Amino acid sequence: MMFGKKWFIAVAMMLGLAMSAPQAMAKQDILFGGASITGVYYQVALQISNMMNKHMGAEYNFIGRPTGGSVFNINALDRGAFDFAVAQSDRNFQAYHGTADWEGRPISGLRSVFSMHPETVMLVTRKDTGITTVDGLRGKRVNIGNPGSGQRGNAEDVLRLYGLDFNTDFRAEALQQHEASRALVDRNIDAFFYTVGNPSAAIEEPAQSVDLDMVPLNSDAIRAFVDEHPYYIMTSIPSGTYRGIDRDIETFAVTATVVTNESVSEQVVYDMVKTVFENLDELRASHAAFRYLNPEEMLQGLSAPLHPGAERFFKEQGWI
Ligand code: GLU
Repeated sequence: MMFGKKWFIAVAMMLGLAMSAPQAMAKQDILFGGASITGVYYQVALQISNMMNKHMGAEYNFIGRPTGGSVFNINALDRGAFDFAVAQSDRNFQAYHGTADWEGRPISGLRSVFSMHPETVMLVTRKDTGITTVDGLRGKRVNIGNPGSGQRGNAEDVLRLYGLDFNTDFRAEALQQHEASRALVDRNIDAFFYTVGNPSAAIEEPAQSVDLDMVPLNSDAIRAFVDEHPYYIMTSIPSGTYRGIDRDIETFAVTATVVTNESVSEQVVYDMVKTVFENLDELRASHAAFRYLNPEEMLQGLSAPLHPGAERFFKEQGWI
């Protein structure tokens, strides 16, 4: 009796906790893999996560993560380490069909959600290196990308098509992109390959400290290669996109796509896709590389089969 009131309060508090617990537990953590912190993929992961937490925060807790890039992301999805991730359209095709990095080991559980922005394959240097052609890389120090990145495969293709061997013709580095941008400014490398949407902080930032240049990747061999593959197109980076680069740079491009795994639930994918398309203006406004996103193009360039959650929303809209 003496402790009656205290007991009452304690029991009431425990009941209160017990009653609020199921609600707190119902919130699902969803991991979304981006890439280097200075790239655009990380912005895709962060901005979509922000939208989901704003519009569906009672159900989900989306978390955007920096990663090693496309190849890393596709493998991480396969291991169940992420629910969503961003990857290049060419890497998705190779992974699903078991070629390139996935030779003899197809990632059959890879599923498409939607396409995002275009990404250009770029060879960036400083004006003072005098590098104006791919051949000019001979004897230099060049970042070809960390092994988990999408750009590494693009760099290898470009070098092969221009007849250069990165084992013998120059000193190849395998830096993550944020380190490569820094190394170019610090004169620890002479050039880097990067496949990214424009504008990217990874090029904008060094362009503020040193005079940058870009090498066109438009030889006949490149054009023939682009013609052979449905996921590549020729394009240009418009003059003035980056400080000091005052002419159009012709090169080839891929598409950044949001991907998932077949094991991710239909409801989770449906909720994400619906939120993104119903609030597309918000996503467009969140980064300059997303400004031109439109639903028609976002349904193109998907090399892995559509996830049923995405398919359900697109069918409801009469888009497929
Ligand atoms: N395309 C790069 C990759 O696949 C990433 C670019 C970015 O971070 O925006 O690794």
